[in-house]
Amino acid sequence: IKNNGRGHYCYYREELKHYFPNEALMEAHLHRAIELKEFMIYFQPQVNLETNKIDSFEALIRWENRKFGMVSPAQFIPIAESSGLIISIGEWVLERVCQYQKEWREYGFKPVRIAVNISPKQFKQKDFVKRISALLQQYKVEPKYLELEITESSMTNLHETTSILSRLKEIGVYVSVDDFGTGYSSLSYLKEYPIDIIKIDQSFITDIEKDRKNKAIVETIILLAQNLGLEVIAEGVEETAQEQFLRENNCQKVQGYLYNRPLPANQIVEQYFH
Ligand code: C2E
Ligand code: CA
Ligand code: CA
Ligand code: CA
Repeated sequence: IKNNGRGHYCYYREELKHYFPNEALMEAHLHRAIELKEFMIYFQPQVNLETNKIDSFEALIRWENRKFGMVSPAQFIPIAESSGLIISIGEWVLERVCQYQKEWREYGFKPVRIAVNISPKQFKQKDFVKRISALLQQYKVEPKYLELEITESSMTNLHETTSILSRLKEIGVYVSVDDFGTGYSSLSYLKEYPIDIIKIDQSFITDIEKDRKNKAIVETIILLAQNLGLEVIAEGVEETAQEQFLRENNCQKVQGYLYNRPLPANQIVEQYFH
């Protein structure tokens, strides 16, 4: 038994932790998070290196729970995914983003593209494409202002993926491949699927100044994107030396702490729209 410092005691036994992982409790809390309004959306600006202007945002969910405090999505998204809760959470995120678009448009702000992370279960949900177009209509959001970030793990079945992606293309939303280079898929999907953007995974950017292999990988991904006519964005940019390298290699867009951390909507309005 341990005192966590705030006068609360918690059981701490490795064997127990194995059978009753914190995850079960977390899942129980996740179930009520939407109705308790515990989720928020943060926005991280994406900077265009050609214009040095922000021309899109990535929406990132935040969860503040009474018991757990702020929980990182890296912790709760996998639980949401395995329990199936990700479907309703993902829908909440999409709708909230469309609401912000409507609200900001009504304030008279110039519309901006917002990228939303889509989990594999959500992507494969039966009426996913219909729901997307219904939301766009309901909030009068032009499709070009919505980007869906999917990972290679969503693209497991060729026919299913082709069907979903081509219907999304018809609607006119953008699709990006998140964490590019970290999955196990063959590159041939890049010619099969109507994809618009490649997001170079942060792990290749982190030590790019020192690691010659990562340098080579990033250079090659950028060239690949260019040759395929895809937009390319590097994520996790924290240092000017990384930006310099990306500039020299003609990477179009960057995202990372060097520019902005993910920010709540009110700060985005203050810093970006005013
Ligand atoms: P991701 O989609 O790869 O998002 C990028 C993560 O890197 C975010 O973490 C972001 O805050 C963080 N990041 C941005 N710039 C930097 C930087 O310069 N350095 C470092 N070290 N990190 C940076 P976050 O917000 O904690 O999200 C973690 C993951 O959770 C996301 O990774 C994504 O896979 C998932 N996630 C977040 N929001 C959602 C969502 O609404 N739906 C779904 N399905 N997944 C989400
Ligand atoms: Ca992402
Ligand atoms: Ca990513
Ligand atoms: Ca990631």
